[in-house]
Amino acid sequence: MNYRHSYHAGNFADVMKHALLCLSLQHLQQKPKPFFVLDTHAGVGFYDVTDTPAQKTQEWVDGIGRLYQRQDIPNSLRHYLELVEQANAGSAELKFYPGSPWFSAQMLRPDDRLILCELHPQDGLALAENFATVPQVQVKTPANGYQELKANLPPKEKRGMVLIDPPFEQTNEFEQVEKALTAALKRWQSGSYVVWYPIKNEQGVVEFQRAVKALVGPGENVFAIDFWVRSGLTAKGMNGCGMLFINPPYRVVQESPELMAFLVKELAQDAHAHYQLSWVTP
Ligand code: SAM
Repeated sequence: MNYRHSYHAGNFADVMKHALLCLSLQHLQQKPKPFFVLDTHAGVGFYDVTDTPAQKTQEWVDGIGRLYQRQDIPNSLRHYLELVEQANAGSAELKFYPGSPWFSAQMLRPDDRLILCELHPQDGLALAENFATVPQVQVKTPANGYQELKANLPPKEKRGMVLIDPPFEQTNEFEQVEKALTAALKRWQSGSYVVWYPIKNEQGVVEFQRAVKALVGPGENVFAIDFWVRSGLTAKGMNGCGMLFINPPYRVVQESPELMAFLVKELAQDAHAHYQLSWVTP
């Protein structure tokens, strides 16, 4: 396990992922009934971008660095950016960038529930420390998020979402996600599932989306948002990433055109930056 999210915190992929996570949770907050969130690959939950890992890669500079404290933003991004400012106590300089667990925890109401899973023993300990005083949060570590999916579904709340955000260190990660989704959907068909993935090999993404289409039932809708910040032909690193939603929250479908149009303009790294919104199921 070499992947440490501290090297990548706040990059363009985190901005997209966390902005859409916030929209999904805002959708769940619209009803007073409690909701449940399971974050299968949680990371540490909170990062200092002035620390060595983030300083070494400087990835956050072309991500949250381009948006922090901007006022000319669409409504769909507002709550996400307010939370990042809150994490920095309103400071003009960005120092901290939160992870998915922190965004979710901030949006819980007293009866909502959040389960966080992390396999890396050291990151898991830091995660548990970061959320030790939040009563609605349960940290499972060292724990395999794919197994925790089986163990914790269906939730007693009967409404909520699962975020699957693996490091994609292993070549068969898409297959592991497909297997985990198959098992999870058997237990909780009406749940909302969100999978984040890097776009390194576009054919791999097409095959993954096709596989998900084949495993959902006729009642499930699948929506995908794919985003490239630079030419897909560039060899260096990750040029783009995507998120696939099974039973997408309505606000994501409704507000992603405005959100992605803004992100592609502001986070572009060359003239080939573009995005695509698509229904994987008709
Ligand atoms: N979701 C986090 C966020 O948005 O802030 C970032 C997560 S990072 C991309 C992936 C994390 O998954 C790493 O911290 C890694 O240690 C952890 N991990 C890897 N394999 C795992 C597994 N099978 N179960 C749980 N965690 C795992």
